[in-house]
Amino acid sequence: MSTPPTSSKAPKLTDLKSPQTDLDGHDLPPSPASSTPRNGRKYALATELVYTESKDQYGSSSMPIYQSATFKPLPGGNGGYDYTRSGNPTRTHLERHLAKIMNAARTLVVGSGMGALDVISRLLKPGDEVITGDDLYGGTNRLLTYLSTHQGIVVHHVDTTEPEAVQRVVSEKTAMVLLESPTNPLIKIVDIPAIAKLTHGKNEKCLVVVDNTMLSPMLCNPLELGADIVYESGTKYLSGHHDLMAGVLAVNDQGLGDKLYFTINSTGCGLSPNDSFLLMRGIKTLAIRMEKQQANAQAIAEFLENRGFRVRYPGLKSHPQYDLHWSMARGAGAVLSFETGDATLSERIVEAARLWGISVSFGCVNSLISMPCQMSHASIDPKVRKERNMPEDIIRLCVGIEDIDDLIDDLSRAVSCISINDIDCANVFQLVQAGAVKVTLDGFHAIPIAQEVAAEPLEESDAAGPSF
Ligand code: PLP
Repeated sequence: MSTPPTSSKAPKLTDLKSPQTDLDGHDLPPSPASSTPRNGRKYALATELVYTESKDQYGSSSMPIYQSATFKPLPGGNGGYDYTRSGNPTRTHLERHLAKIMNAARTLVVGSGMGALDVISRLLKPGDEVITGDDLYGGTNRLLTYLSTHQGIVVHHVDTTEPEAVQRVVSEKTAMVLLESPTNPLIKIVDIPAIAKLTHGKNEKCLVVVDNTMLSPMLCNPLELGADIVYESGTKYLSGHHDLMAGVLAVNDQGLGDKLYFTINSTGCGLSPNDSFLLMRGIKTLAIRMEKQQANAQAIAEFLENRGFRVRYPGLKSHPQYDLHWSMARGAGAVLSFETGDATLSERIVEAARLWGISVSFGCVNSLISMPCQMSHASIDPKVRKERNMPEDIIRLCVGIEDIDDLIDDLSRAVSCISINDIDCANVFQLVQAGAVKVTLDGFHAIPIAQEVAAEPLEESDAAGPSF
């Protein structure tokens, strides 16, 4: 068995100087460098996702988990690490890899997406103003509410799909404009370049921050659209398997990166070595997962739209901001939502699905179904949800990589199970009249599930009856 390279020279305390090279062999401090391949060639994203150049001492093809809280000085002072809260080789390797795929000068990884926003929010001072959307992820809304009630930050919620709405509020006091696109669950598109331009035009110090969780670096690079900071929940597409929590921050301004790193080092919220390893592994399959998830999402969106549901998905030409979305993104993502016209009906559909797991979150290889108003967005006051036009019956589908026929079949069974057994005719007709549901006679929905769930076998006429 080979042994690692050793040095007979004992380390000295003077070796505890700033690192010269790190484990990847770059002569830069551990976190700030990007991990562009040495030959400088830029490959297609699908290649960059899997290509790494680690110079591990044993030549390991996968960066090991450095499960160590402390590091001893190495002779010559080129170890680069002393304490894992400040830096860890596994985390550094991941940060370099992310910087490469996010086209960022620096990325940092922390314990969750909300942890990433918390780090960003530490840039704010009492009296600062934040402008953000009215269809935000519930956790983001909760943190912003806390900042406004406990930290003296003034938060303006506006319809960020209208750049003029931001224009009206932005001022010298605005320290941050925080955007999500597509929004979730209403799947509204925000014109990031227009808002970044008008914001910086009015207040050049104001930071434009974009939560890119819904698209991932595979589909969108908000830094290239004018954002100053991009953050993502690594819990979603980047990891892809719902087996870890992580948050990613990316910047091009090194000074800004240093400020964010200061908070991470001070508070100790950097991603653990073990989770850094898992996230690195997940990222390598991002392209292939996203391709399949998007193809499935497109097919499901078309299926539901063809059956008369109001579907919100930027892959559909009927999306009112279709062109805007495609001007910024390379794909439509794999989250869509639809409405049934009735919250109880939506609840029953969600409960009747089998393949579609009832769960918050998205970006996983498994398909998920949820009712945002009762789950991910339940922390938003019902009154506020109403003011922000959030339909209580909205169902969110987060599409995975399963066989598309199985996914559609399961959804059809869930919907037709409800139509036959739980919803009385009057209700169905009301829904039709309300224009929320189109009843069709294409006959494939009801038969299998009706035979399975009905105590008595259904008559031929029942089985072919109203389904939607
Ligand atoms: N941003 C968006 C759009 C999200 O959907 C979520 C979580 O669902 C987060 C941020 C928070 O990420 P995390 O759950 O990793 O803290």
